[in-house]
Amino acid sequence: MVVIIYDDRFLRHYSEGYSHPESPSRLVNALESLRTHNILQKFKVVSVDKPNYELPHEVHDRAYVNYVKELSSKGFNYIDGDTYVNSYTYEVATLALTASLKGYELREAYDKPVFVLVRPPGHHAGIHGSALGAPTLGFCIFNNVAVLAKHLINIGFKKVLIVDIDAHHGNGTQEIFMEEPRVIHVDLHQRGIYPGTGSIFEVGLGEAEGTKINIPLPGGSGDNTYKEVFDELLDPLICSIKPDYILISAGYDAHYSDPLTGLKLSSLTYYLYFKRLLNLSSKLCGKRLIAVLEGGYSEGLTKGLPNSIAALAESEPYVIESESLGVSAKNVISEVKKVISKYWGIN
Ligand SMILES: [Zn+2]
Repeated sequence: MVVIIYDDRFLRHYSEGYSHPESPSRLVNALESLRTHNILQKFKVVSVDKPNYELPHEVHDRAYVNYVKELSSKGFNYIDGDTYVNSYTYEVATLALTASLKGYELREAYDKPVFVLVRPPGHHAGIHGSALGAPTLGFCIFNNVAVLAKHLINIGFKKVLIVDIDAHHGNGTQEIFMEEPRVIHVDLHQRGIYPGTGSIFEVGLGEAEGTKINIPLPGGSGDNTYKEVFDELLDPLICSIKPDYILISAGYDAHYSDPLTGLKLSSLTYYLYFKRLLNLSSKLCGKRLIAVLEGGYSEGLTKGLPNSIAALAESEPYVIESESLGVSAKNVISEVKKVISKYWGIN
């Protein structure tokens, strides 16, 4: 069984009068696909109660939260060149944080992996808004996975691992936890695209040095590239980290069909990665695993998401596509290992 958290109110944040890739149809299509594969009928789907307006303050500064609240109260507007708000955005983005925290409650109550199906996405939202010098918020408002990770360390977990597989670097998440050693952030992304951060030399600051691990992959990386990265880097690294919770920042924009990136995963990698992360969570931390939706602006979401949920349910993949062959990541893997081997026992 898998627990899925979803609420219709996530559809209220939309771009009025303009088409925008981060639209309610992402979730509508994703749910339709889950229905087609008989997933929604089979698993437990839970909605959210009231938004908890304390939560944005857990990871964002007061000025930014107030700015979002104020702008949203005035109706539709662009917060920057990429990112919009409408009159529901403050409520919906806060509800997405509330849903992420509920992921923890339900994970513990059912002892089953949880998938939190939210929007707007969150991983580009940093402490003050756009993070680490990025020009925009990249469609994000509040950082869902960060609020969840912060809660976990607040209640006593010592090693919370975030694996971010969205095609873009999770600069907001990295910024929020830059000096926090209890949150280990491993980020796979396409190098050279928005937001421009995520080099292998960004390893965290102070006591947190070594807990931020970036794996910038070349455009054209495919299923074989990601498999190579898991075998040679992620698997030994995560075994060395020994996390007590695993969170997945689950973006589906590394799929070959995505218009915003140059990676070319098939839906098979979304099965393989979730399966292997679930296995590691089983071995290392009592299957404590929660996935939170990030980006994905095409069929990546309708084809990849059912496979992620199949993997969490320990059943066969729902969507079969032929393996996409991409470039080798040997050089990146060895460069990352060179930088992080002094912090983690891998070589
Ligand atoms: Zn993305």
